[in-house]
Amino acid sequence: MTLLVDTAPGADGLVVQRCSLWGYNSIGVVSGGEACAVDPGITPDEVASFRATLEAGGRRVTRVILTHSHHDHIRGWDAFPGAEVIAPRVVAEKEAGPRARILAGKAKVDERLGVEDSAFRYPEVDRTFDERLEVRVGALDLALEFLPGHSNCTSVVHVPALRALLTADYLVSPGLPYCRWEAAPFEAANRRLRELVEARGVERVIPAHNDLIDGRDAALAAIDEELDYFTALRAHLSARLADGDSPDRAMRAAAEFMGERRGVDLGPRARQDRDNARRVLAELRDDQSK
Ligand SMILES: [Zn+2]
Repeated sequence: MTLLVDTAPGADGLVVQRCSLWGYNSIGVVSGGEACAVDPGITPDEVASFRATLEAGGRRVTRVILTHSHHDHIRGWDAFPGAEVIAPRVVAEKEAGPRARILAGKAKVDERLGVEDSAFRYPEVDRTFDERLEVRVGALDLALEFLPGHSNCTSVVHVPALRALLTADYLVSPGLPYCRWEAAPFEAANRRLRELVEARGVERVIPAHNDLIDGRDAALAAIDEELDYFTALRAHLSARLADGDSPDRAMRAAAEFMGERRGVDLGPRARQDRDNARRVLAELRDDQSK
């Protein structure tokens, strides 16, 4: 693990720790003697070192924010005694079935990593929100906003005073959108991100995986890449279906087209192209049957 961003005790700013799995970023917001942990992960060791960084100089972690319930994002929820755990209502109200699937996914990855964490429980959320929630950490206001699309329960965190937007699993790999739920809300979420960057002076995007995006122009370019991707994918799929391709054939062809369009071989990560094509296809067929 590496510290990508650190802030000295007493100052206001961000702490970003890169984990060893999936380019994962644990993100802290610190101000004065207080700290807030956003999606602390991944292994117990990494969470412990993240906590030590947040608590440097006697800072107290008063809040843990979980942006959504995917298992890489909820791992450190109970590692900060006394902190209030905050998440979208949909996260808190997941039913037994989805909870069991999330925990099983986590256990599988733990096994692969050689991590023993069998006592882990699904998060117990102290405070939930539907659309928006403002919370204060030290002298900083954090605006939590529900923005489903990546999953049905995803939210993002805007810190106006730091000109920072914590985008969870949006913008994790511009040009390869990680849509794990539905395409149309995913695109709507990206349009909302654009609005936040344009209207609220965001200068720094911190996704939950991979590189930080510095500067307004880079953030807008990344958002446009995501939106252009879906426009191209939808157009290709529609054309294929209109030509009489079977849905499955159209899906495969469209995924391949998206890979060629990118012009960079992403290896196994490109599986996400198929996933995205499947989701857009479901939407197109749904529209047809209306
Ligand atoms: Zn996710």
